[in-house]
Amino acid sequence: MKKSILITGAAGFIGSHLCERFLKEEWQVLAFDNFLSGHSNNISHLLSNKNFSFINYDVTNFMCSPQPISVVLHFACPASPVDYMKYPMETMKVDSIGTFNTIDLAKEHGARYILASTSEIYGDPLQHPQTEEYWGNVNPIGPRSVYDEAKRFSETITMSYFREYKLDTRITRIFNTYGPRMKAQDGRVIPNFVNQALKNSPLTIYGDGQQTRSFCYVSDLVEGVYRLATYDNLQGEIINLGNPDEYTIQKLVSIIQQEISTKSPITYKSLPTDDPRKRKPDITKAANLLNWSPQVDFKDGLRETINYFKSLL
Ligand code: NAD
Ligand code: UDP
Repeated sequence: MKKSILITGAAGFIGSHLCERFLKEEWQVLAFDNFLSGHSNNISHLLSNKNFSFINYDVTNFMCSPQPISVVLHFACPASPVDYMKYPMETMKVDSIGTFNTIDLAKEHGARYILASTSEIYGDPLQHPQTEEYWGNVNPIGPRSVYDEAKRFSETITMSYFREYKLDTRITRIFNTYGPRMKAQDGRVIPNFVNQALKNSPLTIYGDGQQTRSFCYVSDLVEGVYRLATYDNLQGEIINLGNPDEYTIQKLVSIIQQEISTKSPITYKSLPTDDPRKRKPDITKAANLLNWSPQVDFKDGLRETINYFKSLL
């Protein structure tokens, strides 16, 4: 029997790269997306692949699978702060009802379940870098909570199925990931700065630009998720995946100015509420359990991303 995987959020940025990767490894891929924050362009090149089936569907509705499934990857959820604040109810539902629906399907099929969680569950962290043991510092009622708390609840659901039903669950906490197929108007910092620089429009730094992020190129992230989904004996594990190279937003602007010759001025805007001041993954666990570490240098990944956005102009 063919290895068969169900991927939600398949038409999104990361989901579409995951579909490609599993198809490359000869998996049968059953893909779900309702195009809330993704786009059909991200998967149109896969539709002719005989191992790829796509269903335009909101996974907060009842789910069943027309074929046996051995692994479920639940990646559906808006990830850009602009998107999840535009769709607060949809975000909370896909991380709660959508998580129940997809994990029940995994249980019914005796499938392994992989949840895409996020570094946002650490909130504005008081521990740096962030290890998986850290419980976080999250405002439960602020505008970001529709994402942060929803993802924390989706982790709770996942660990409860692991404890109650002995389901083979794994959680990855993904740190800022970038690359081709992010939306140009996504609102996240790399698509914003690159597109602003390409169009000579102002580079919008929020706050003083001293906040930090650590950026992981999408092929590195996909390799980590692939290993998490396919390695044995990882049931119940929670693993950070991200690149520990940490940059201030101010430094990011200067790197982008070096890579794109632009006339864009810098403009400062107010810092969004509860914007985390620093973020950097501790990836010791991923190194030990998955033998994984990021391979793509930031400037190399950035050039690929710039070329992608140039191709859309
Ligand atoms: P994305 O917005 O590009 O992709 C999410 C996809 O989920 C979209 O195609 C969207 O249409 C789909 N979707 C949303 N609600 C749905 C629903 N109810 N039913 C079916 N499909 C639905 O975001 P992304 O950057 O690819 O993120 C993918 C996953 O990874 C998310 O779960 C996100 O929380 C997680 N993550 C991403 C990052 C990152 O830096 N990209 C960081 C941390 C966590
Ligand atoms: N940011 C910025 N200018 C922008 C977009 C984002 O200065 O045009 C900042 C934002 O305030 C945050 C960081 O860049 O501190 C990363 O933001 P992003 O939305 O990419 O992801 P987050 O890590 O906040 O989810």
